[in-house]
Amino acid sequence: MMNNYNEEALEHLGTFEISAKMQQIARKNEHGNTFLNAGRGNPNWIQTTARLALARLVQFGVADSQRTLAKPAMAGYIEPAGIYQRLVHFLQPAEHDEDHFLLTAVKYCHHRLQLQRDAVVAEWVNGVLGNDYPSPDRCLRVTEIILNHYLQSIGYRGSGLAAATQLFPTEGATAAIVYAFNSLKENHLLNPGDKIAINTPIFPPYLQIPLLKDYELVEVDVRSYEKNDWEIAPQEIEKLADPAIKALIIVNPTNPGAQALNDKDLAAIRRVVAQRPDLMIISDEVYGTFVSDFKSVYQAAPHNTMLVYSFSKLYGCTGWRLGVIGLNNENVFDRAIAQLPLSLRKQLDRRYRSVVLHPQRLKFIDRLCADSRSIGLYHTAGLSTPQQVMMALFALSHLVNEIDKGASDPYIDQTRDLINQRYAQLYTALGIPQDKSATNTHYYALIDIYRLAGKRYGQEFRHYLADNFEQVDFLVRLAEKNGVVLVDGVGFGTKPGELRISLANLPTDDYARIGQQINKLLAEYHQQFAAERAK
Ligand SMILES: *Cc1c(COP(=O)(O)O)cnc(C)c1O
Repeated sequence: MMNNYNEEALEHLGTFEISAKMQQIARKNEHGNTFLNAGRGNPNWIQTTARLALARLVQFGVADSQRTLAKPAMAGYIEPAGIYQRLVHFLQPAEHDEDHFLLTAVKYCHHRLQLQRDAVVAEWVNGVLGNDYPSPDRCLRVTEIILNHYLQSIGYRGSGLAAATQLFPTEGATAAIVYAFNSLKENHLLNPGDKIAINTPIFPPYLQIPLLKDYELVEVDVRSYEKNDWEIAPQEIEKLADPAIKALIIVNPTNPGAQALNDKDLAAIRRVVAQRPDLMIISDEVYGTFVSDFKSVYQAAPHNTMLVYSFSKLYGCTGWRLGVIGLNNENVFDRAIAQLPLSLRKQLDRRYRSVVLHPQRLKFIDRLCADSRSIGLYHTAGLSTPQQVMMALFALSHLVNEIDKGASDPYIDQTRDLINQRYAQLYTALGIPQDKSATNTHYYALIDIYRLAGKRYGQEFRHYLADNFEQVDFLVRLAEKNGVVLVDGVGFGTKPGELRISLANLPTDDYARIGQQINKLLAEYHQQFAAERAK
């Protein structure tokens, strides 16, 4: 049972690059099975209402622009005064759900957020038409308030933190991560040789970026183990008492472990920052809405945490590139900059002097924005305005439920139901017990092939698998023979033999097939084992 691939060479590639290779292989699989790619976290559903609402705003905006100038294929700028009334006149809420949604959304902004209706509609219309450079550059004014209430509603309900938080929308969480590392370095908050703690297993870029020549950081593993339901063990949290550790990086809920931090973990983080008020935390919370009663690290440690969120997963909009960074008005990043040695502060004053009058007062969140455009282009910085409005509309599609449905959001419930069904199908087919705990997102499943082998065919077979085959062998064969693509967990920092299955990106019935194909391949390895033993 040999295969044609150099598995040792494969293991040097990045996680997602191996997965791309597996896709090529799986398309021409030996059994002629349908190609099933469960490697991507990209969801296969979309939120429709907010998208249609955006299209309606474009139509309305063009018509409204013709009031000031109307020539073939050319119109003028809108006039904000009275624009809400004109929108009401344009929309047909009885015929279009998205029109009804837009009117409810404006109502929400007016009554709940105390915003002027004309200001809201004008920001959206100018925004979707892309009339002006983003202004203010870091985040549009109405959008920042809406996004703040959204983040509060999903992660720190009732905390009042929305009013104390500044936001920087970015090109997905991807750009947020890049900008964060870059500005931390440029502002001397992370220097070569500094230690950063990383809660593993984790989304691979968080392990790859710090080691780059650009940063040369030293990684300290703060591990979570499956046997503890991926909870961070107390002795792992204690590592953070070391003042040489400058920052903690955490994905909550985790990818690939799919577990949200529980009250005990969050209490441990609270204790750590009480002891280490200088600790910087980056918390990536893109899967927050996939557990009920999600609690953000930002709520546990608001003054120490840089919050990273993305709309990609929940709203099925990875191509839109919609992410956001949040920082409290009072935060450890600003404090650390103020405490830098005088020579470094002077150097930073020179760095930002050309774009602001008082560079020493420039907050870290605004430095992130200025740095994202190499400072020289600060005046044209900021996420594109159609993207910002798309984000605000997704956020409002959640918030408007507060008007008549309390805390519940039928769309969010549907996304959870969908992935829960897929999870149940997969585990039933595999014949292993399901984790039904409330802190499991079920967005990914992590399957330990060696453990599965041991359980089904005994410990001797388990050791045979682990000792006689490269760690990626199962993965390669699953692609080559069975046409199923999964992702190797090792790039995320799991132990060998863990495979990540995304429950987000295939039709629901395919998950039973994936379970069956895994069982089938395991049975083939076992036949080979039995044959070799019989010799
Ligand atoms: C998918 C994912 C991202 C990327 O988010 P985008 O907004 O699509 O760039 C970031 N972090 C984690 C943990 C993810 O799983």
